[in-house]
Formats: sequence, structure tokens, C-alpha cells
Amino acid sequence: MDSAPIQSIEPSLAKYTLNEEQEKKEIIRHYRALLKALRPKLKKGDKELLRTAFEMAANAHKTMRRKSGEPYILHPIAVAMICVEEIGLGVRSTICALLHDTVEDTDISLEDVEMEFGTEIAKIVDGLTKISGVIDTNTSQQAENFKKILLTLTDDPRVILIKLADRLHNMRTLDHMKREKQLKIASETVWVYAPLAHRMGLYSIKTELEDLSMKYMEPEAYKDIAKKLSETKRERTRYINEFIRPIREKLVAADFDFEIYGRPKSIHSIWNKIKKKSVAFEEVYDLFAIRVILNAPPEKEKEQCWKVYSMITDEYNPSPERLRDWLSNPKSNGYEALHTTVMGPQGKWVEVQIRTKRMNEIAEKGLAAHFKYKEGKDGNDEDRFDKWFGQIREVLGAPDTDGVDFLQDFKTSFLAEEIYVYTPKGEVKMLPTGSTALDFAFSIHSAIGTKCIGAKVHHKLVPIGHKLRSGDQIEIITSNKQKPSEDWLNMVVTAKAKNKIKDSLREEKRKIAEDGKYVLQRRLESIGAAYSQHNIDELMQFYKLNSALDLNYKIATKAIDLRELKDFQILGDKIEIPKPKPVFNDLTADPTKPISKKDSELIIFGESSDKIMYTLAKCCNPIPGDDVFGFVSTGKGLIIHRTSCPNATQLLANYGHRVVKTKWAKNKEISFLTGLKIVGLDDVGVINKITNVISGDLRINISGLSIDSREGLFEGTIKVFVHDKEELEELVNRLKSLNGIQTVDRFDTEKEG
Ligand code: MN
Repeated sequence: MDSAPIQSIEPSLAKYTLNEEQEKKEIIRHYRALLKALRPKLKKGDKELLRTAFEMAANAHKTMRRKSGEPYILHPIAVAMICVEEIGLGVRSTICALLHDTVEDTDISLEDVEMEFGTEIAKIVDGLTKISGVIDTNTSQQAENFKKILLTLTDDPRVILIKLADRLHNMRTLDHMKREKQLKIASETVWVYAPLAHRMGLYSIKTELEDLSMKYMEPEAYKDIAKKLSETKRERTRYINEFIRPIREKLVAADFDFEIYGRPKSIHSIWNKIKKKSVAFEEVYDLFAIRVILNAPPEKEKEQCWKVYSMITDEYNPSPERLRDWLSNPKSNGYEALHTTVMGPQGKWVEVQIRTKRMNEIAEKGLAAHFKYKEGKDGNDEDRFDKWFGQIREVLGAPDTDGVDFLQDFKTSFLAEEIYVYTPKGEVKMLPTGSTALDFAFSIHSAIGTKCIGAKVHHKLVPIGHKLRSGDQIEIITSNKQKPSEDWLNMVVTAKAKNKIKDSLREEKRKIAEDGKYVLQRRLESIGAAYSQHNIDELMQFYKLNSALDLNYKIATKAIDLRELKDFQILGDKIEIPKPKPVFNDLTADPTKPISKKDSELIIFGESSDKIMYTLAKCCNPIPGDDVFGFVSTGKGLIIHRTSCPNATQLLANYGHRVVKTKWAKNKEISFLTGLKIVGLDDVGVINKITNVISGDLRINISGLSIDSREGLFEGTIKVFVHDKEELEELVNRLKSLNGIQTVDRFDTEKEG
């Protein structure tokens, strides 16, 4: 792991010095390796087709180079290689991967591709072309493009698989990009592509995408965890061996055909755990999982997995809450396995995953492997993906699903982990995590959703917003008097429920607005004006409304009082509304921006070197020295966020065009408020010791201090003014070195304090 960065730099440096002949040889060498990987899948005539695709692509990209300096064609070849080796795709996908950037970037047209390779391949290449540049340009464009991806995806899932391979290779070679580009690409990757890979069942690609994104977005945390992982490796290996030994003996004695090994968890998942539970690296118990892979005949898979489970839990005691049975109910991305957590030697909890070779291949290669096994399997789970595609199509077909909302809805309803629940008749339904009784009602039928007044979960009455859990059996209670209201939108997570609620709200509004229209008509006539488009436009402008529907609705609900009408002038049958005087926006005079009083601590690179007004984001309280970016907000000017801010990913991925590169300038005069959370043993004088370090030794100002103690432990939050990150780090180190202090962590949000 440690040597990886060096490896990735050296070959590309070497390539700068290659001459044309050598470069050609290099390209051919990569192409040959690709052919070799494909060999078991080649049928008659395939080799020639591949050759044609390769030559077509190589020729088209002939004069192009990647940012690293290497010939561009090496990228499509690498993408094709990922498709073959890591996703398990075949010849046709390989051809598409080789051609994936040609229509977008070169003179080759879609017709050329179709003529040479037929409609099937041309369609996929077209899908890949539409996708590129998805997250560039502006937000609405991006959402439009994203919808296009999804349409092509439901047409042919290979488009998304090849796109994921493309993204993976770009992430692997991101070193050569500029920092802001890196941040943008990395955040898109965690925001959209990693969840998509997960949903497609491509676990190893998902994990790698997350780790690579983190490497660029949180370089320090990444390096820190990677270092600690490698430092603790020997110790961990020793422990894994000790854990495995007795199990291996038992399985051998029982004549199982199996593999057993320990596997480290990804850096990204360890980091998530550290953040979520706010614990130290040393306290994350599942740094690795034990995996048992069985070679079992199809009809014995389930039985053998459970046998192994029983043998393991004879040796080590399982935690009853941590058994996950994805054998009986596979995840909707196709994942099957049995997970348990047991008490291992030295009182440590260890996660064990039990699955067969077939299941393992599905876990690694997802959708592609799923199709491979689909032919031989009967049963009702084979259309899992088809069902999912069907649901996506349904949502895509809904009218005006707009912009970022759509992306967000899509993420929560299709890319989230899912739960399975039951109808009263015992039928299974898959819903995204966080779904409520109302989501369930809409998943059955929209007429049941709109009439839902409550539900019974396991025969107990619950409100419509009740969050469901896996295994719940739900009976929906309806009433003909029920009507959806605005607040229902906050009670559902599925896109289907959201769209149906919006539809019926719009319908309801239209009905009410009819009354308003009638009132307005009479009112205008009574003052001698006409009910004309001109007059409606004037009124919409006056009341700052976007549509006549809104205007009529507000009149009907008396949110707008038409008595003002009598003050308007009427010329002919037209009303004249006095235009307000222009107000000059003087940003510098705005008293609500105290932080901007001295701007010199921040330099903005980009458009100009002028000092720019900015505010510091409340969600992450950046201080000088933090890795930051500027976000151009509507209304509040530039807002500075930390790149590690919980909102950063979402902002960078969705509004890349509004992000400005920013950097701190050196300044020791101004201090910034930040918070620290301290946990330790409750000891006499501990507060004294802490405050002594802060205000005595380091002369840092304390703005607030609160201590909670219970059962011999205390938890304190302290707000301090520091000049920069260096100073903060020194403070943290000094505090940590005090007797009895366990952890000292910076906290971001105001709420936590
Ligand atoms: Mn590409």
C-alpha cells in the first residue's frame, strides 16, 4: 500500500522519454494483455472485431495525450481491461470500452460505429457518449444528463458498468489533475458513482472508488489511517491466524471444500466508523473481517453455510443482534451471504462472513456475474434487477422531476441500502432504508397511499410517518376523507411516494385556484380593468409570484388581499403598478457580516486577486490552515467550507461550477472560534488542568466551557479562539498528554456544542 504512489509516478515519467517506436510497442503490449485476459471468451471472428475497434480508437486518438503525458489510447485500453478482469464483461463490452471516448472527443461519428459494429454496440457507445460530461456544466444540465444515463441504464446495464470502469480508471490516475479538478471529480465519485457501483453489486469497485475519493478529499485522514493499518499489520495477522486455526481444523475434519482468510476493511469504512462513533482508530473493533468461502453444489449452498455458521459459533460466542441472513433474503443488488459477529480470543469482537464461491463472485462482480448465473437458476430472485430497472423507469416517466431534487430523490430511493418488509399476506417488499409506513402504502398502490391515515406494524398502531425496519409486517389503514398535505413530503423517502404526493398536491391546488381566478376576475372588472394576460403579469410581478396558478391560489386562500387593487392606476383597461425605486446593494456596508471586517487572512485565486467578501460556513467552522474551498452562494456571497465538511461532497458534486479555489494567507492577528470535545477520567482538578494548559501555557482565549460527568467519566466541550490549525494542533497534543485524558477531538457543527 505504501509503495503505490511511487509506482504510479514512475512509469509515466518513463514514458516522457520514450520515442514513437517504443510508444507503439508499449501500446501493443497493453492491447495484447487485454486480448490474453479475454481469451477464454473469444469466439470465431471476435479477434478481428476487437482488432478493428482497437485500430479505430488508436487512430482516432492518435494525436491526443492524457494529462500524465502518456498516449490517450492507453486509457480506453485500461478501461476495457477493468471491464474484462474486474467486472467480468465480454467481447462486445470490450469493444464499447475501447470506443467509449471516440464519438465524444474525435472525428468518429456514431454512424461510423454503427456501420462497423452494428446497432447493439452503437447504442451502448451512444449511451456512454451522453454520459460523459454529466457533472460538468450546470446543475440542471447535470440532472438532465443523469436522467439520460438512467434511461440508457435501464435499456442496457452494460452502459453503466463500462462507465464505472471509466470512472475507476480516471480515479486511479487522478494524480496528474489540478487540485480543484481532483476535488470535484472525487466528490462526484462518492456522491454518485460509488453508490451506483454498490447498487450494481460491485463491492470491490465501490470500495476502491471510496478509498480513492477519500485520498483526495481527506488526504491527511487517509494517510493517517493507511499508516496505522500498516503499522498494526503484523499484530493483526497474528490475531487472525489465532482466530482461524481452530475453525480451520473443524472444517477440515468435517470435509468441507473451503477457503478461509482475514480481510482488512477499507480505509473509507474505517474512517466512517471513526467519525460516526467518534472513537479513535485503536477503538474501531472491526478493522478486518474473516471470510469463509465454500465450494458447495447449488442445492447444498444454504445448508452448508448454516452448518459452517453453527461450527463457528460452537467455537466462538455470537452476538445475537449481529446476525445478518442474506441467504434467505438477498439484498436487492443481489448480495447473498451470512454475516455474524463473534467474540474472538482476547475478548475482541470479530465479524465473520460466510458465503459460497458463486455468492462471492456475485459480491465481487455484481450485475455481470448475476447475468452469468441467471440462466441456470430458477426461483423468484432472478428478476431483482429487472424489478429495480422497472421502478427507475416509472420514476423517470413522471412529469417534471426537476434538477438536484431528482438526484437527491434518486439517491435515497434507489442507491440506499434496503430493508425488506411484509404485507399482511406475507408478500415481501424491498424498500430503501428510512422508509415509512407511508412509503409502504404508496409502494402498494398510489390510491392506498393518498388515503393512508395510519398503519399497524405487528398489530400495533403507528402513525403514517413511522420508520419501518426489516422484518416488519404492515397493514395500512385508509380513510376516504384523507388527503395528502405538504408535510407528507417530509415523511417519505421513496421517489414514487414523493411524486405521487406532489401530483395530488398540485391537483388540489389547481382546484382551489379555480375559486381564486373567479374572485380576481370579478375584482378586476369592478375597478374597470380587464382579466387580461397583461394585468395578470403585472400582478404576478407585484406580488413576486412565478405563475398565475400561484396567484389564483393565494387569492383563494386569502394569502393575498386584493384591496390594494383600488390604489392602482388604470389606463384603458390596463392596471399600472408603481415600480419600486431601485435599491443599491452595498455589500461592504452590510453589518451582518462581522467576519469580513478584515479580509486579509484569505486569498482567493482565480478571477482576481482582490479581497473578496466571505463568510465562514457554520457547518464546519474552518480555521486558517484547514484545507478549504469557497462556495458562491445565492444571497450570502462566498462561503468558505472545509473540504472535510459534511456538506462538502454534496456541494462539490452538485454545484461544481460555483466552487472557487481558496487558500489562506498567513495572518496571526485574527483568531477563529472552534470547538474541542474532551473525554477523560473524572478526576479532582481536571478542569483546572485543562484550563491551565489553554489559557495559562498557551494563552489561548476560551469562549465557552461545559463539562458533563457521570460514573467517573467526564465529557467536556470547550470553545476556543485560535489563530490557525497549527495552534489548534498544538493545543490538542498538549491536552492529550494530560493525565487521565482519553480523547480530544475537534467538532464541527454548532449543534453539537
Ligand atoms: Mn474515458
